[in-house]
Amino acid sequence: MLIDSHAHLDSPRYADDRAEMLVRAREAGIGAVLSIGIGEGPAQMHQALELCRSFNAQRAAGAKFPLLYASAGVYPHNTHEIDEAVISRLEGLLAEPEVIACGEIGLDYYHEGARHDVQRAGLIRQLEIAASRKRPILIHCRPKDGTMDAWDDLFPVLEEHWRHTGLGGIMHCFGGGWDEAQRSLDMGFLISFAGNVTYPKAQALRDVAARVPLDNLLVETDAPWLAPVSNRSKRNEPAFVSETARAIAGLLGREEAEIAAATTANFFRLFGIHLSGLQPDMGN
Ligand SMILES: [Zn+2]
Repeated sequence: MLIDSHAHLDSPRYADDRAEMLVRAREAGIGAVLSIGIGEGPAQMHQALELCRSFNAQRAAGAKFPLLYASAGVYPHNTHEIDEAVISRLEGLLAEPEVIACGEIGLDYYHEGARHDVQRAGLIRQLEIAASRKRPILIHCRPKDGTMDAWDDLFPVLEEHWRHTGLGGIMHCFGGGWDEAQRSLDMGFLISFAGNVTYPKAQALRDVAARVPLDNLLVETDAPWLAPVSNRSKRNEPAFVSETARAIAGLLGREEAEIAAATTANFFRLFGIHLSGLQPDMGN
C-alpha cells in the first residue's frame, strides 16, 4: 500500500471524474490520500474536508476508494487575504478529526504575489494556530531560481515558532539541496518527493533523495500538477504516485515494497501520535 501525502483533490480539473480517479488510485494500490485544503483561496479551505467526508462515507458503504484525510491552510500567495474571520475558520477546521494537518503553508518567492513580509507574517500566524490545535504542518518552500532565499527566511521562522512544539511536519514537494534537507530532518520534518524527481534534468534532486533516511521519506503527487515523467505535462492523479515511489526505490537500491511500507509507516507515525482514536482501518 502507498500513501499519496499531498494531492489537491478539490481541483476543478477533477470535476468530471473525481470518483473514477479515486477508484483508479485504489486499484493502483493507493490506500490513503491527504487532500490539501487551500482551494483557490481561503474561502475554499473547507473543500478538502467536505470531499474527505463525502468519499469516506461512500467508502464505508463499500465504494473502492482510498481513505481520505484533509488539511486546511492559507497558501503563501493568499496570505494577504488573512483576517480574523479566516483565522477563526482555520481554527475550526483544524479542530475536526479528519483535518490532520495545517497546510500547505510557507514561503514562495518564485512566483510574483504576496509580499515577502506578508507571507512571513501569515506563516507565523498559522504556525501559532497549528500549534494550538496540535497539528503537524505541510510546508511549501520555493525560492527564486538560482537562490535559496525562501529557505533562508523559512528556517529562522521555524526555529523560533515551530521547533519547540515537537509536532514536526512535511517538507512538501521537496526541492532544496542536501543542506536544506538536513536542517529539515534536524527539526523533525519528513521529506516528501513528488513526480518532478523523475524528470531527466532533476539529477541534483535525485542525489538529495538518495541520501534521505528511509524513516524520513514520503511520496506525493501534488496532483493535479507535476505528473511523473511518463505522464509529464498531463493532469496528475494519486494513482501516479507509484511511479515516484519506484524511482525512489531505484535511487535507494531498495524494493518498491520497502519504500511503500516505510513511507506509509512514516505518514502514520507523524500524524498518528497526535490523533489517537483516528487510526484508520486500512482494510477494504
Ligand atoms: Zn500542493
